[in-house]
Amino acid sequence: MKVTEHLSNRKGTLISFEILPPLKGKKISALTRTLDQLMTFNPPFINVTYHRAEYKYQQRSNGLFEKVYIRKRPGTVGICAAIKYKYGVDTVPHLVCGGFSQMETEDALMDLNYLGIDNVLLLRGDAVKSERSFVPHEKGHKNASDLVKQTVDLNQGIYLEEELSNALETNFCIGVAGYPEKHFESPNMDVDLAYLKQKVDQGADYIVTQMFYDNQYYFEFVKRCRESGIEIPIVPGIRPITSMQNLRVLPGIFHISFPTKLVQAMQECKTPDEEKMVGMDWTIKQAQELIDFGVPCIHFYTYGSMKVIPGIVQELVTKPHSVS
Ligand code: FAD
Repeated sequence: MKVTEHLSNRKGTLISFEILPPLKGKKISALTRTLDQLMTFNPPFINVTYHRAEYKYQQRSNGLFEKVYIRKRPGTVGICAAIKYKYGVDTVPHLVCGGFSQMETEDALMDLNYLGIDNVLLLRGDAVKSERSFVPHEKGHKNASDLVKQTVDLNQGIYLEEELSNALETNFCIGVAGYPEKHFESPNMDVDLAYLKQKVDQGADYIVTQMFYDNQYYFEFVKRCRESGIEIPIVPGIRPITSMQNLRVLPGIFHISFPTKLVQAMQECKTPDEEKMVGMDWTIKQAQELIDFGVPCIHFYTYGSMKVIPGIVQELVTKPHSVS
């Protein structure tokens, strides 16, 4: 079932989760344990992130350096298929522009279609560590909106190989990313919203937001999207913090900020357990306010937060009539 169908058939606010594939060489059992825990909350869909290859220079025995291709977390499509068929839950693989030619994208979409996966979250991806800014594949897409267009074309039976006749029309439901605190490369929010609108005009079906810790950012973002003519559902993405260390690290990675009240509460903690409790408490209140606002779904980023997510969701689902 498509994400948009889940969103329109819901009785209350849905709870969905986003997971990462395991590191290459690690067993899938840790992920399965996480999934077993998450499945107790009957999520309508699970997102699985995509991690493109990095390059690093390794010294050879002759002293020369060799550029080596490393992919730390392969397996997005396989894990989506495994979850879908093991648990009977819809999955949303993330697909990125970075590292993909358009033909490879087309083939990836075909694989998903054959697996019966009809949801995708389409993203540009970030620059790899060895690059200062995002560099697209020479035969790939520069921005997520181009990836949306290619997927919409495929949904209409339009393939890159133009001579294909009577070609299968795929049926992908397309999610894209939105940034309540603005994407870090955008000069301002107006420009960012104009490009978000472009993704929507190309055919995106819903938006999932970057994490945020002050709901005012989300409320303002939704208001400005609506004023810009963006009418599709906007699913808030949230990630519980579990330690003071999160406050130091996450802004640099995700270009987000923390409200003063949360920072102060964290600073007053004397033990790691107290920090965890402050993070949990903040997320429960944040999620409850979003539910009261009437959001269609809360999307939990689970990476690094699995210690607290089951407790938080349990607290939310025990409140009557708020979560379906
Ligand atoms: P775009 O929509 O292409 O926007 C990127 C920047 O370019 C923005 O500043 C935008 O304003 C600007 N822009 C857009 N269109 C144009 C245009 N036509 N001309 C000029 N400028 C333009 N990354 C991963 O690698 N794997 C993942 O699994 C992953 N999952 C994510 C899930 C969510 C919910 C979110 C919010 C992010 C995720 N990311 C992931 C990170 C994402 O790839 C980065 O934030 C990336 O820098 C931007 O991706 P985008 O799809 O928003 O890009």
